[in-house]
Amino acid sequence: MDYYSGQINKLIEALGSLPGIGAKTAQRLAFHIVNMPEEDVKRLASAMTEAKSGVRYCKCCCTLTDDELCPICKSPARDKKTIMVVENSRDLAAYEKTGKYNGVYHVLHGAISPMLGISPADLKIKELLERLKDDVNEIIIATNSSIEGEATAMYLSKLIKPIGIKTTRIASGVPVGGDLEYIDEVTLLRALDGRTEL
Ligand code: ZN
Repeated sequence: MDYYSGQINKLIEALGSLPGIGAKTAQRLAFHIVNMPEEDVKRLASAMTEAKSGVRYCKCCCTLTDDELCPICKSPARDKKTIMVVENSRDLAAYEKTGKYNGVYHVLHGAISPMLGISPADLKIKELLERLKDDVNEIIIATNSSIEGEATAMYLSKLIKPIGIKTTRIASGVPVGGDLEYIDEVTLLRALDGRTEL
């Protein structure tokens, strides 16, 4: 039985499809939104549509950015010969927050997962290999320590090592299955400093 109007239901359904939003939260948000001043609702809606249409992949590292190149790839202060491979832009942000990493990144946008049907071709691996044609000293594989992250690290090291580039893996002080973005800075830095060659 429908308790609410069709439009409210539609809003609840749309909000409920977002990650981490359960049925109750979706309901609360939907009622909050319809009670908001119209101006605020418009601002919220346009922030979403503008971000969706304006955000793109950095031409070099594939992170999400507004420009052709992200600020990190653009910066002359960053060491372009050290590339840290991460699963997503949130992991990149986690390492950036430590302020201690001076290299650049490569964002895969996921990890290999046969269960979810994510194959290497679905990730930004081709783009990474393209970057290895330039002068690169080290590839730091910083995928999560989940099964998917480990499988991806293994896959990448098999691809990269034969090229003759030093390939390292961050230390697994990082809790198994833990998303990098939820790990504190000290643990992240310890994982980075304790990286070992593959
Ligand atoms: Zn970039």
